[in-house]
Parts: sequence; structure tokens; C-alpha cells
Amino acid sequence: MAIDSKTLHSKLKEFFGFDSFKGDQEQIISHLVSGNDAFVLMPTGGGKSLCYQLPALVMEGTAIVISPLIALMKNQVDAIRGFVSGNDGIAHFLNSSLSKAQINEVREDLLTGVTKLLYVAPESLTKPENIDMLKEIRISFYAVDEAHCISEWGHDFRPEYRRIRSIIEEIGAAPVIALTATATPKVQSDIQKNLGISGAKVFKSSFNRPNLYYEIRDKSDPKRDIIRFIRQNPGKSGIIYCLSRKKVEELSELLNINGIKALPYHAGLDARTRAENQDRFLMEEIDVIVATIAFGMGIDKPDVRFVIHYDIPKSLEGYYQETGRAGRDGGEGKCIAFYSYKDIQKLEKFMQGKPVSEQEIGKQLLLETVAYAESNQCRRKLLMNYFGEDYLQDNCGACDNCLHPKKQFDGQEEMSLIIELIESMPEHFKMEHIANILAGVSNALIKSYEHDRLEFFGAGKDHSVRFWCDLIHQGIVRHFLEKDIESYGLIYVTDLGREFAAHPYRIMLTEERQFVDGEDDDDDMPASAGRAGGGGGDQVLLAMLKELRSDLSKKLHLQPWILFPDPSLEDMSITYPVTVDELKNCQGVGEGKARKYGKEFIELISRYVEENEIDRPEDFVVKSTGNSSSASKLFIIQGIDRKLPLEDIASAKSLEMDELLSEIETIVASGTRLDLNYYISQTVDDDVVEEIYDYFRNEAASDSLSDAMEELGQDYDEFEVRLVRLKFLCEVAN
Ligand code: ADP
Ligand code: ZN
Repeated sequence: MAIDSKTLHSKLKEFFGFDSFKGDQEQIISHLVSGNDAFVLMPTGGGKSLCYQLPALVMEGTAIVISPLIALMKNQVDAIRGFVSGNDGIAHFLNSSLSKAQINEVREDLLTGVTKLLYVAPESLTKPENIDMLKEIRISFYAVDEAHCISEWGHDFRPEYRRIRSIIEEIGAAPVIALTATATPKVQSDIQKNLGISGAKVFKSSFNRPNLYYEIRDKSDPKRDIIRFIRQNPGKSGIIYCLSRKKVEELSELLNINGIKALPYHAGLDARTRAENQDRFLMEEIDVIVATIAFGMGIDKPDVRFVIHYDIPKSLEGYYQETGRAGRDGGEGKCIAFYSYKDIQKLEKFMQGKPVSEQEIGKQLLLETVAYAESNQCRRKLLMNYFGEDYLQDNCGACDNCLHPKKQFDGQEEMSLIIELIESMPEHFKMEHIANILAGVSNALIKSYEHDRLEFFGAGKDHSVRFWCDLIHQGIVRHFLEKDIESYGLIYVTDLGREFAAHPYRIMLTEERQFVDGEDDDDDMPASAGRAGGGGGDQVLLAMLKELRSDLSKKLHLQPWILFPDPSLEDMSITYPVTVDELKNCQGVGEGKARKYGKEFIELISRYVEENEIDRPEDFVVKSTGNSSSASKLFIIQGIDRKLPLEDIASAKSLEMDELLSEIETIVASGTRLDLNYYISQTVDDDVVEEIYDYFRNEAASDSLSDAMEELGQDYDEFEVRLVRLKFLCEVAN
């Protein structure tokens, strides 16, 4: 059946309300409705779904859409039902979440031919009763969404996907359309082979995302870097990916304590909290979501302005998918990944328990990531090359390496050396092996091939193994070398490479970049932690600050400690804050306090800095989360925000009330303001509140609890005194 372009356009308008097709959509659709297999490679946001939804609606029979994302099926089905109102049977899904009655309803609609689209999870497709049911109906075509799941070389391998072809045979042949947003040449070939669509027409759109900026940073102080970056980009939405749940929790807590609205997202949270956090991100109640890779599938927030990888990802496919969530609207999208060699070693360690073949694949994918991270070439060029596409411009203008080009050198000799070495050996080897030979580094594999006896062994020993790896990589990008798809990783010389070796010419290559081996990742917050109260600040300034505090406290009729306690002043004498924002970063200074009492202090400091020509440290203090093993402070802050009874918060975190109160006291001491009135008004008598409050306001010489208990006398309950003290600190001091 062929459908002309005019009809397709009118159906596009009728069902989806669009006036024109995007990219290759029309060609893909008419190819499919004419009964042919198609293989669609399109980046996220390119408009893949329409490539099967529209044909399904216009063709005879039912289209079977195989998709791994059970959680999204309902949304997709609802969306179709929305396009074609008044006929809910038009689309259904079949997965393990359905009840018997629901399955019967689906069956009914399928058999009467009402249903045009049936979404199926691969594991449901393998069930005999479902296969029997589908045998009875007319199938228009099969769509295999997220087709990279077929390949172990993809970033989301699902063994059930391997069975799709045989099941299709069993149900009855019909055209197949496979779709994916990420596919290296290796994954692409796996998909075609496995699905038996080697003859399919391939529709590949460019994977380049011109509006995204790529950068790799040394992971020497990632937390500080991230806080600085977010502060420089206020109000923008961003996603931060971490590899572990623990890191997600920690980081999101740290961000909150440093005044950044962030929430965690990972598989360990219950479904409700996850959905809630995701919603609050989508609704822009918070700016940042800190997540494991589980976050982001199927969510469509068009204005994510940055994606940060706190940990280097396991594969470039995953990396590209995740960075792809930035700037979908075509606007700004900054993608920053932190890299250290230690992280790579950690990832390698994780792999150790896995089956050998999986380890081998994992290692290769990781090597690609290392090569990418350490390279000095244009990131865009490297990424495009990885996905089998050429990027021809020399300078993309939107990656760290293009914006800050590293030194280049004429690499014709080095490149020739690589090519000659590979050509001289009867077998083919992987990148590291070749680099080891040239750098003269021996290991078991080198010895077993007696490659340490080659004349090439150590021929480039002035350079490191990493240097040679990077150069081989540059050779691949320039098509002098190529990586074999079947064996994956074995390096071959191309015709172009042989030509080059025969008549070398000047080629400018970039020098390697040095990265730190480790990072301070695991020790907590070196900056501020040990500093408070430790002296070492500017003593002259400190004295002036104390004098100012005493003047002000007289004027305001407030105890000096209520304005700023000593540790705050000491911190000011170290960091010289001259704006309210900078002041906020001092120990024990929250937003409220900085605004209420800070003005004169920063004026004094500004004058002092200017008069004494002081070089202010550019750095700021990262407020520490304190003892991270204690119950999550973030949870407590959010609980109080939501006016939960303190008893509930305590039991949710398995804390005694006493311990909970101590936690709240640390939170308040770090400058965060909490509103506890909802709880206090229900648990403490009004006049008791008033008396305790008065004591702190007018009599106390410090916020000391023991002084207060002594002064107030035995009639007062310590718990109540602590509660009211908190109220006072939040309202007056913070
Ligand atoms: P993908 O699955 O490739 O990530 P989607 O199918 O989710 O992409 O489509 C991305 C966005 O583009 C969706 O908001 C969709 O409504 C929109 N879209 C798809 N086709 C068209 C079109 N022809 N004209 C305008 N918008 C389109
Ligand atoms: Zn570039």
C-alpha cells in the first residue's frame, strides 16, 4: 500500500496538529507504509515516535510497538488516545502490570480490529498466551523502540530483546522499523543482524547538537566547582549525575546547605518521593536534581541548562544520552563532566564480579571514555566520530578544547611510526597494546607475543602510554586507522593511512593533557571544617569587626552573639566577604542574618580591603554538611517545611526526639532558618514560650543551654527551652 505525500500531510495535521514533518520523518513513514523495513537513528528529541505512530494510524491492522520502558507505556498510550479522541481502544499496552480483566479488554479490542497500536514489553511478548493472541490478528508492522537494547555494546542491554526476531517469525512476518537515539557502528550492526533487517534502509540523522557545550574538568575539588558553577548560573535548571545513591544523597544535601535548591533522585527512594521530586524539578520549585542514571528516561524538560557528571560515565553512549537532556529547546546547554583516573579504577573494580565477556565489553567501553576525557581534540569531533559521523569543522567553538586549544605539534613522524608498527605485525591488536609497544612498556601480553623484541619496542619511549593512546585515537578520527566492528577494538590501518605512511605530510596533533590521579572526593570539605575558631585570620580586621558588633548590638538592643557569633567573625577575617552573597558563605551566617545585620560588616570589610590593598581569596567557603553519617539533614528540613510533626520526622529517621533536636540545632547553627511555630504552638503553652523567648532576647549572654536552664529554673522543661531557643535563633539571630 502506498500513501501519497498529500495524504500523509493531512493525517499529520489531523492527528498530531503539525504542519510539516521534521527531518526525515516523511521519507521514513512512506518507506514503512510501502511495506519496507527501516532503521532509524535519530538523536533524542528528533521525533522518533511519530515515525511509527502515524503509519500505525493510517495502515490496516495493528502495529506492535516493542518498548522496554514499562513506566512510560501508559503515558504514550494516553497521548495517542488524546490525538484520536472518543476511541480509547485505538491504543493499548500489554505488560506485567495489567489485571486479568484489563487483558481481556485488550484482547477484545485487538480481535475486533479497533486497536491500531499495541505497546508491548519484550518480556510480555515472549509469553505463549500473548503470542497465540497476536497470531490471530492482522499486524501492520513491528516497531522496535530503543533498539540499542539488543546489543551488549549498547548502554542498556536487555537479553529479551535478542528474542524479538524469532517471536516475529512466530507471530507472522510484517515490516520492521527499529529506532534508537544512540548507536555506534558496532551497535548498529548488532541491531541489524539480530533483528534480521540487514537489508533495511538506514535513516540516520546527524547526532550533532550544536547548542551543547562540552567540557571535561579535573576532579580535584568537584564539590566546590559545582557549587561555584551553580552560583554563577542562578535560577537555571540542571541535572547532576552521580554513580552511587550515597553520593546523590550527600551532594544534594551539600547543595541545600549551600543555598542551592536541589533534590535527590535514585532507585532507592520510594516511588512517591521519586515522582514528587521529579515533579518539583519539572515545575521549577527546585533548580537542580541530583540523580543516578535512572533519572531522565522519558522526561521532557526542554530548558535544562546544564548537565553535570560528577562521576565519569561508564560509556560514551550513556554520556551522550545524558548530556542530550540539556538544551532540548535549542537554547544553552552546558555539559560538564569531572574526570580522574581514580574513578576509572573504581569502575574497573566494580566490573570484577561480572562474567568475563561482560567485563571485556565494559573495559572497552570504559577505554573509549578515558580516551575521550583525556583527549585534547575537539569533543564534538570525537563524539561524532564515535557515533560514526564526520564532523568537518576544525574548531566547533563550543567545547573546552576548542575554546582553550592545547599546544599542537607536527605529528607526522609519530603517526607514521604507529602505522608502520601496525603494518609490520601479522596480527591485529588493541590500542593499549600498540601504545605499550611504542612506549616500551612490557606486560604479560607483550611478552607472550615477544613484542618486547620488536625493533619498534620503545621506539617512542620519550612519550607515555597515554600519549600514544591519544595519538592512535587521533589517527582514528582522521581515518588513518580504524577500529574493527566485529572484533571491536582491534586497530587496522586504512587505505588513507597507508597513503599517509608512504608520503607523510605535516599534520597538527594536540599534546596530551595531564589529569590528577585522584581527588579529594572522599574526605569531607577541607576548606571550612577545620577552620572555624582556629584563629589564623586577619587579627586587625577581627578586632575591628568585634568593635563594630559591639556598637551595633548596643544600638539594636540585642546581645552581640545574636548578631554574629565569634566563629562567624573569624571566618569573615579569613575570607573578606564584600557582598551579601559572599557573607552568606561564612560559618553560621544564613541568608536572613546576612541581610539583616550584614550591611555594615561588608562595608567595613570593603573599606579595609581597599585601604590595605588586600588580595581577597577568590575562593569561597563551602559549608560542610557536618557528620554525613547522621540522619539526613535535608530530610529534616523538608519535613519541617511540610509541617510534619517532629515525632514523625524522628521516627522516619529512627531518631530519638532528643537526637532530632540536636540535628535541628546544627542545621540552625549553620544559618538555615526553619519555621517551627506550627509545632511549638501545639506542644508548648503560649506564656511559657513568651517567657523563654524573653530570656534569650533580653537577658542571655550567649545561647548556652545550661545557663538558660539555671537562669530559668526547674519549672521549665529542657526540651521546651530548646524548642523556643530554636524559634528565637531562627527569628532573631538567623
Ligand atoms: P524522540 O522519541 O526522538 O526523543 P519524540 O518522538 O518524543 O522524540 O519527539 C520530540 C518532540 O518533537 C515531541 O515534543 C514531538 O511532539 C515533537 N515533534 C515530533 N514530530 C514533529 C513535527 N513533525 N513537527 C513538530 N513537532 C514534532
Ligand atoms: Zn570543539
